Amino acid sequence: MKWSHSIGRIAGIELRIHYTFYILLAFLAITFQTVGGPAAAVNAVAFILALFGCVLLHELGHALAARRYGIRTPDITLLPIGGLARLQRMPERPAAELVIAVAGPLVNVVIAGALFALPAVEWRTPEWEALGEPGTGFLTRLAWVNVILVVFNMIPAFPMDGGRVLRALLAMVMPYARASRVAAGVGQSFAVLFGLFGLLAFNPILILIAFFVYFGAQQEAQAAQIRHIGKETPVAEAMADKLDTLPEDATLEDAAEAMVRTLQHAFPVVDGDGRLLGVLTRNDMISALRSNRRGAAVSEFMQRGVPDVGLDASFADAFQKMQEAETKVVAVHESDGSFAGLITPETVGELLMLDSLRPDADRPLWR
Ligand SMILES: [Zn+2]
Repeated sequence: MKWSHSIGRIAGIELRIHYTFYILLAFLAITFQTVGGPAAAVNAVAFILALFGCVLLHELGHALAARRYGIRTPDITLLPIGGLARLQRMPERPAAELVIAVAGPLVNVVIAGALFALPAVEWRTPEWEALGEPGTGFLTRLAWVNVILVVFNMIPAFPMDGGRVLRALLAMVMPYARASRVAAGVGQSFAVLFGLFGLLAFNPILILIAFFVYFGAQQEAQAAQIRHIGKETPVAEAMADKLDTLPEDATLEDAAEAMVRTLQHAFPVVDGDGRLLGVLTRNDMISALRSNRRGAAVSEFMQRGVPDVGLDASFADAFQKMQEAETKVVAVHESDGSFAGLITPETVGELLMLDSLRPDADRPLWR
């Protein structure tokens, strides 16, 4: 993920911290420093770090459960809004998704249970206003925060774990794509409720969560639709194949001309044998043209190492590569290795549109 840096590895999984997380820490430190002095600031920061330690263990719960089903987790990123375990792919069977989704909150159940077993931890709900007061009820607050994590994550709304549990349960009795849409619809209904409640209670955090849930649900449903259509669609049918290519020695000037002539969004750059060397997107070209070196070779500015699939792959395979590599283009090659076509956001969008126009399309229940 962009704007994040690595802090090490656990069980072969890279741990990353998003830079905005430091903004959250700084914000809390400054706020509590002004209200209660340095001790309050240290206490508040220590509490947030302990809380995110629990969030990290939650994500590790998902990752290690996924590993049981042969799914790798390349990295876990901590953001101010929580943790994000990037699984290499979605589990195929609903039962696996159910186990992976439940494993995260289960970790917090265990942590809360262990903390409540300590004599120093009280059962009554803590006074949250005392967050900055050194020492008082640190562990009690941590125990309750884990309870909140469980309840919040198990709300049956995408993209929370509860939404995945709901989809997995629904997918046991109905097609996967429809189960996803129902779960996304429930998620968006919850988001609207959060948003309304946030507006009425003047709670900006709740409004932020509402947006996060609403768009998360939409994205999840779309990804499920792509996986669903993609399995039956050969990549050859979905790719853009009538593309103008650029030779290795083409200049930016040539590329700019080709862009105006064809309105193409991405240009494959190929060698003499027709093999792909890289891809020059419209954005690459615009930033390159700013450098004002029209005579420079496109190979200086193109993206190299574009992930690729063979012509016999399904669209779902290509889409998975796109997600794994976090790129916007995937190349398709012929059996002899020469360039055949590109999968770009435009081709993905077209495929989704064509699918929704199908007369027998499985209509969404509500939006
Ligand atoms: Zn989770």
